[in-house]
Amino acid sequence: MCKKRLLNLMEKCQKWEWLKEKHFRSSCQSSVFGLVMEHLEISMIPALLLLPVLLQVAAAHYLLGISILTALPGLVLWYYYATHRRKRRTLFFLSLALYSLAYMYYLFITQVVPRGDVGLLQVSTATSGMLLTVALLIHTKRGPGFVPQPAVHGALSGTTKSSTPSVGPGASSSGAPAELQAGKEALRGKWSWCPVCRIMRPPRAGHCRTCGGCVQRLDHHCVWINSCVGQANHRSFLLTLSVFVLTSLYGISLVLGSICPQQRAVTALFYCPGVYAHYSTALCFTCSWYSSIITGGLLYVLLVQVLNISFNVTEREARLALRSKKGQRRLFGLVIDTGEHSRGFFQNWVDFLTMKDASVSLRSSCTDLV
Ligand SMILES: [Zn+2]
Ligand SMILES: [Zn+2]
Repeated sequence: MCKKRLLNLMEKCQKWEWLKEKHFRSSCQSSVFGLVMEHLEISMIPALLLLPVLLQVAAAHYLLGISILTALPGLVLWYYYATHRRKRRTLFFLSLALYSLAYMYYLFITQVVPRGDVGLLQVSTATSGMLLTVALLIHTKRGPGFVPQPAVHGALSGTTKSSTPSVGPGASSSGAPAELQAGKEALRGKWSWCPVCRIMRPPRAGHCRTCGGCVQRLDHHCVWINSCVGQANHRSFLLTLSVFVLTSLYGISLVLGSICPQQRAVTALFYCPGVYAHYSTALCFTCSWYSSIITGGLLYVLLVQVLNISFNVTEREARLALRSKKGQRRLFGLVIDTGEHSRGFFQNWVDFLTMKDASVSLRSSCTDLV
C-alpha cells in the first residue's frame, strides 16, 4: 500500500518536473523569439534601404519581378502578424510607408517627367497630393484622444468597479426633469471599468494593449501610423487614407500612360508590350506594380472604413460582436452590423463628420509624432 503511494507520488513529481521543464522551455523560446524580434526591428532599417535595390533587380526581368513582388508583401504581412501578436509598437511600417512614398516620388521626377509626356499641371497635382498626404499624416499622428486619466481618475477617486462616474455625460444634477434623468441613467450604464488603467471610461472607449491606454471611441490600432485611431483622429485618418489612395492611383495612371501610351492604365498594368526593352521603362513598370499592391491593400482598408462609418460601428466593436456572436455580417462579410449605434446611413455620416473632438491628453504630445 505504502509502495503504491510512493509510486503515485513519484509519478506526480515526474509530471511536475516535466511541466516545469515545458514552461521553462516555452518561456525560453518566447524570450528568444522576443530577442530576435527586438533585433529584427533594428536590422529592418537596412532592409528598408535595400528596397530600391530589390526593385531595381526586379526590373531586370519579368520573372524576377514576379518573384520579388510576391515575396515582399508576404514578408511584410508576416512581420505585421508577428508584431501584432506581441502587441508592441513598431516604427517599421511607418518608415516603410514614408520611404516608399519618397522613393516613388523620386522615380517619378527622375524617370517619368524627363520623358516629356507629363505636363506641369499633372506634376503639380501629384506633388500637392503627396505633400497633403504627409501633412494629414502628421495631423493624424497628434493622437487618437486618450481618456484623460488625471481628470477622470481624480474625479472618480474612491469609486469602485460598479460605481458610476461623477464626470462627463453621466454626471447627475439636482432638479433635472425625469426624462433627462432617465436618459442619463441609461448613458451611465455604458461607462465601463478598465482594469489596466483603473479608470471609468466613456461609452465606446477601449483599451489599446499596444499603446497601453484607454482611447475614446477606439476604432483600431494602426501599425502603419504607429498609433491608435480614435475619436480625435478618425476623421483625419480617413482623409489621409483617401488622399493617399487618390494620389497613388493618379500617379500610377500617369506613369503607365507615359511608358505604355497605347494602352489604358488598367490594361497596361497587365499587358504592356516592349516595356522590358529599356531598363528605365521596366523600372517604372515594376514600381507601378509595387505601388498598385500597396494601394490595393489600402483601398480595401478604406472600403471597410467607409462601410463601418455607414453602419456606425468601429473595428473594435465589430471584433467584439463577432466574438460574442451578436453582430450580423453584411455585404459579403465586409462589415459587421451590431445595430447598437446605427441611426441610418445619412445620420451615421452626419454623426461621424460632426463628432466632437476628443480631448487630447498629455500622452498625445509632440513627442508622439514618430
Ligand atoms: Zn485602459
Ligand atoms: Zn494603440
